[in-house]
Amino acid sequence: MNQTRDHWAARAAALDIETRAFIGGAYRAAEGGATFPCHSPIDSRLLAQVTRCAGAEVQAAVVAARRSFDQGDWAGCSPRERKAVLLRWAALIEAHNDELALLESLDCGKPIGDTLGGDIPAVAQCLQWFAEAIDKQADELIPSERDFLGMVGREPIGVVAAIVPWNYPLLMAAWKFAPALAMGNSLVLKPSEKSPLTALRVAELARQAGVPDGVFNVLPGFGDIGQLLAEHPDVDCLAFTGSGATGRRILHAAADSNLKRVWLELGGKSPNIVLADCPDLPRAASAAAAAIYSNMGEVCSAGSRLLVQRSIQAELCELIQAELAGYQPGDPMDPATRMGALIDEGHLGRVLDAIAGGRLEAELLGGGLRARETSGGYYVEPTLFACADQRPAIAREEIFGPVLSVIPFDNPMDAVALANDSPYGLAAAVWSADFAKALELSRQLRAGTVWVNCYDELADLNFPFGGYKQSGNGRDNSLHALEKYSELKSTIVRLR
Ligand code: NAD
Repeated sequence: MNQTRDHWAARAAALDIETRAFIGGAYRAAEGGATFPCHSPIDSRLLAQVTRCAGAEVQAAVVAARRSFDQGDWAGCSPRERKAVLLRWAALIEAHNDELALLESLDCGKPIGDTLGGDIPAVAQCLQWFAEAIDKQADELIPSERDFLGMVGREPIGVVAAIVPWNYPLLMAAWKFAPALAMGNSLVLKPSEKSPLTALRVAELARQAGVPDGVFNVLPGFGDIGQLLAEHPDVDCLAFTGSGATGRRILHAAADSNLKRVWLELGGKSPNIVLADCPDLPRAASAAAAAIYSNMGEVCSAGSRLLVQRSIQAELCELIQAELAGYQPGDPMDPATRMGALIDEGHLGRVLDAIAGGRLEAELLGGGLRARETSGGYYVEPTLFACADQRPAIAREEIFGPVLSVIPFDNPMDAVALANDSPYGLAAAVWSADFAKALELSRQLRAGTVWVNCYDELADLNFPFGGYKQSGNGRDNSLHALEKYSELKSTIVRLR
């Protein structure tokens, strides 16, 4: 039961928000007491003054993580022991679902229905999945001569830093900390300065669940501390989700420091291809709308390019225009709202600039305006453009907002060429009644995930998630994610 807007507004007013860094198992303010304001994009109200970490806190967190790792406080536990703790943590997150969902919605403008039923439950599931997986991993015994025993085992890397963005603040963090901690590493998490609140809150739940001091640390702050983590000689691995520009800086910092392992999940401009023989055009239209308008389009794998075979373009555009009404921005505290606020004023400005550019290069079929301005928050209408080809900037560049560009093609091979003509390669989709044709196209698409006759379905932790090309390297989720947070060790024993 998602309650009413008044219920959530009253709970929001009564929230006691944790604002301090979590280092070595305890909350603490920054040296010198520095803070930064955390505003809600819903109405720009001040939510809290949050501790602004700097070099001293980065150093303290890395030292705490290193000490816990070297002492074997967590790495030395059996996988079954770690599993039990992580399952307790997941259960505590489930028990605090309402509070965490409310914090997440207030902090980044998401509809409360989404955070209650989506973001926060997915965090608990992610922890459960890796907890359940970790005591079922066996090492390898290598075929060798009779006098030898050869083994290959996985060990935790050591100190992992996780730097995450603001679009799914706690879920993107969980995609890193769940596998990294399950594997036995100690971790320093840096949430985005735009959405630090849920990460700070779950640190206390980790402590309650039994995660040893120093194993899970949270540093609220800006890019400067992310940079310090990337440069730090005692961070062994850095897992990042965010923009390509920041990813590049992190790679440079790793190269110039200790060659730490760096895993990057970056942006996208994902193509959603609809062929003329699409088996169910109304369904394709509603999926295409959800693919770009869910979470305000602030989704790295959003289907932001709709490639449509010319003969059905007009019909598909009409169907999508009809979908726009269902995504009109509303109060994120109202459980009926499907489209909330963009993350902040700066991002709102960038999305509106992209739309203004789009008006010069393409035909606006719907939306295009700022909405709910009197609320003081940052809302944009779901926006639909028809492009003559893929040249306009709105059809090429990641906007990270609710802006869909429709691009026509004549034959399926043109669609593949258009789809692959992008520096990104995160996700793609193909709609066709001809299964063999759809599979043939999906093989040629340079993307980490391809959906056929659906978009964004089966968001299951068994599937690796990540991109080709400049969408990043490595994969989150699935057993493959454990590889990112482990070292392989070969042990060769002479028996006689
Ligand atoms: P961002 O790169 O600006 O910030 C991400 C994080 O990096 C933040 O915590 C930020 O403080 C930190 N940071 C900033 N400068 C840094 C530096 N020099 N060194 C280290 N850390 C630094 O990205 P954003 O605006 O928060 O997120 C939006 C981007 O994230 C989009 O491009 C989107 O596509 C991408 N994204 C990708 C995925 C994925 O899984 N591929 C998921 C979500 C978002």
